[in-house]
Amino acid sequence: MGRVYNFSAGPAVLPEEVLKEAADEMLDYQGSGMSVMEMSHRSKVYDDIIKTAEKDLRDLMNIPDNYKVLFLQGGASQQFAMIPMNLMKNKVADYIITGQWAKKAWKEASKYGQANAIASSEDKTFSYIPDCSDLPIDDNADYVYICENNTIYGTKYKTLPNTKGKTLVADVSSCFLSEPVDVSKYGVIYGGVQKNIGPAGVVIVIIREDLITEDVLPGTPTMLTYKTHSDADSLYNTPPAYGIYICGKVFKWLKKMGGLEVMKQRNEEKAKILYDFLDQSKLFKGTVVKEDRSLMNVPFVTGDADLDAKFVKEAKEAGLENLKGHRSVGGMRASIYNAMPKEGVIALVEFMKKFEAENLK
Ligand SMILES: *Cc1c(COP(=O)(O)O)cnc(C)c1O
Repeated sequence: MGRVYNFSAGPAVLPEEVLKEAADEMLDYQGSGMSVMEMSHRSKVYDDIIKTAEKDLRDLMNIPDNYKVLFLQGGASQQFAMIPMNLMKNKVADYIITGQWAKKAWKEASKYGQANAIASSEDKTFSYIPDCSDLPIDDNADYVYICENNTIYGTKYKTLPNTKGKTLVADVSSCFLSEPVDVSKYGVIYGGVQKNIGPAGVVIVIIREDLITEDVLPGTPTMLTYKTHSDADSLYNTPPAYGIYICGKVFKWLKKMGGLEVMKQRNEEKAKILYDFLDQSKLFKGTVVKEDRSLMNVPFVTGDADLDAKFVKEAKEAGLENLKGHRSVGGMRASIYNAMPKEGVIALVEFMKKFEAENLK
């Protein structure tokens, strides 16, 4: 059986080239006589892998020298705790609630201090991004927290919130490396890599150096202290070594493709094909307000749960996989990350046209 077009929200599609290279190197990584899975993370060979990965990521994102790049574990969800434990010096933080992941982060932060929900789009099932130009930022807030691309609901911040001088912390799990970013606008950018970069098990944290201190909340475990990992260049303990190696290959692939400016153009082009179809369809409808649409996650519905289920089933039979929407939105969701080729989106739209012709009453 061949490969399908995989529209999964995560773990998600990876570039075929990267998978093939990894397969070629599986038994013998560049003459080392062993797999990357089998080698010491303290070896010269591995040191080169992790250092090169970091350098390529720095090149791709133009990461300033006063930011550290950390390769950690525990998923994006572990950062929900790690961020307040390390950053809540005044025990106050402001959260903008644009979906389940932001809400979970906010709830977790409430365990450690006063976490203010300063804006929310829950009133309309998180189908838009609230106006963040003049929010009631707390004078004592240690940071302002956002989830920049909302994987489940398909919204994305097109402009960053006005934090009134406070440190911005962003979960970018599902838009990581999808377009250029100005890292200097953030205190912390982090994400689990299994959406747009690599295999589950790695979380990348890009953090401004002045935010890395020993002055963390009492009782913070060594492993949950940024300084531990920063001081050890992400090798305090055994890192998710194989996952980092694959991420490194994806960084190389992105560089070869032309970098993040080119990825942005490609992603805009792909998303436009799908959104343009949705906007004229008589059967399918996008669930997000136009201004806030994500380039990565595209939820849509027919308005009839049985018909949605039929669509998902028949799409799968046609080699278009994992189109079922998140249970909280229903309907469908097509995740069209960096590694989804344009041909995949075209195939999806062709299938939707056919389904519409067959099922429109
Ligand atoms: C998937 C996802 C998470 C959760 O990631 P885990 O690695 O499973 O903890 C958090 N935030 C966003 C935006 C996500 O898409």
